[in-house]
Amino acid sequence: MSEPTVESLRKQVDEINLQLLELLNKRATLTTQIGKLQTSQGMALYDPQREADMLTALQMANRGPFSNATISALFKEIFKASLALEEKEARTKIVVQRKTPDQNTVIELPRGVKIGDGSFQIIAGACAVESFEQMDAIGEVLASEGVQIMRGMAYKPRSSPYDFQGMGEEGLKIARQVADKYKMVVVSEIMDASQIPMFQDYVDVFWVGARNMQNSFLLKALGKIRQPVILKRHFAATLKELLYSAEYIASGGNVNIILMERGIRTFNEEVRNTLDIGAVPLLKMESHLPVIVDISHSAGRRDLANAFGRIAKASGADGLMVEVHPNPPVAMSDAKQQLYFDQFRALMAEVRAVARPEKAY
Ligand code: PEP
Ligand code: MN
Repeated sequence: MSEPTVESLRKQVDEINLQLLELLNKRATLTTQIGKLQTSQGMALYDPQREADMLTALQMANRGPFSNATISALFKEIFKASLALEEKEARTKIVVQRKTPDQNTVIELPRGVKIGDGSFQIIAGACAVESFEQMDAIGEVLASEGVQIMRGMAYKPRSSPYDFQGMGEEGLKIARQVADKYKMVVVSEIMDASQIPMFQDYVDVFWVGARNMQNSFLLKALGKIRQPVILKRHFAATLKELLYSAEYIASGGNVNIILMERGIRTFNEEVRNTLDIGAVPLLKMESHLPVIVDISHSAGRRDLANAFGRIAKASGADGLMVEVHPNPPVAMSDAKQQLYFDQFRALMAEVRAVARPEKAY
């Protein structure tokens, strides 16, 4: 028998490569199937014990020439690739997850108002409804600046139970009246699922505040209605947690969700919260939902409004939210951050001068 040549040996290697390729893909098909079953049964995709057992079995069967360490390293790479594939499959099931680069949810509100259509929407109004006169004065200024979405907060989640808690249903009535007078839509914060039918009589957009971001019972209830929901990020929530909270609403059938970045708690004492502006491109990269920036509760001060407003628009967000009051120092809540009317007009002029990029990332 003649000695094998390099060519003939290489030919055998080529054949084995093809066999390995087929086996690897066959393996991937099986693990993807396992991943689907695990997801449907609510099981975690990553099972460290299963990986350890497979590695032990491989080492026991290994006759060389590869060492056990090399075999382990090679198979760990295969396990990693399979897990990545399973995770990718699982993500396609998440309703709020972006599926294609041009998938963008456009929220359609009454009066033809849209959020997420490429425009930059302004949501403005008092921190809380205090009286008809206060809201009427605000409504007039907002309308003169072309604002279409008004805050009409009647339930306030205050840090102290002794602070003003909001006007309740009476406040919602005032908000609706003023919004109708100035042809605007009204948003208002809901505290509990039991309030949904009552809110439906007055508001166009439901609002879940930072403190209720992980109230899964409220989120599930809002998944059953069809009105849009603004979901604020909790001040200690990761973006993944915010998106899972949105998923609670979306998986119930209501995909009319607007995400809102409102600042997170850090060691920075100069501001009330730290505006996490990087959240805008990251959220838009991960999700097809519109993103709005709250420039009031993030800063906690009036003198940053223009800067934060410009930054918000330049970030590629779909709008900003700002608090405005006829006489901020005597406001019943958030007196330090609500804008005077002239400051609000200045903010609008500054924001108008900034271009909104077509893409946030
Ligand atoms: C608000 O925007 O009215 C509010 C209470 O803010 P947050 O829920 O972000 O604290
Ligand atoms: Mn406020």
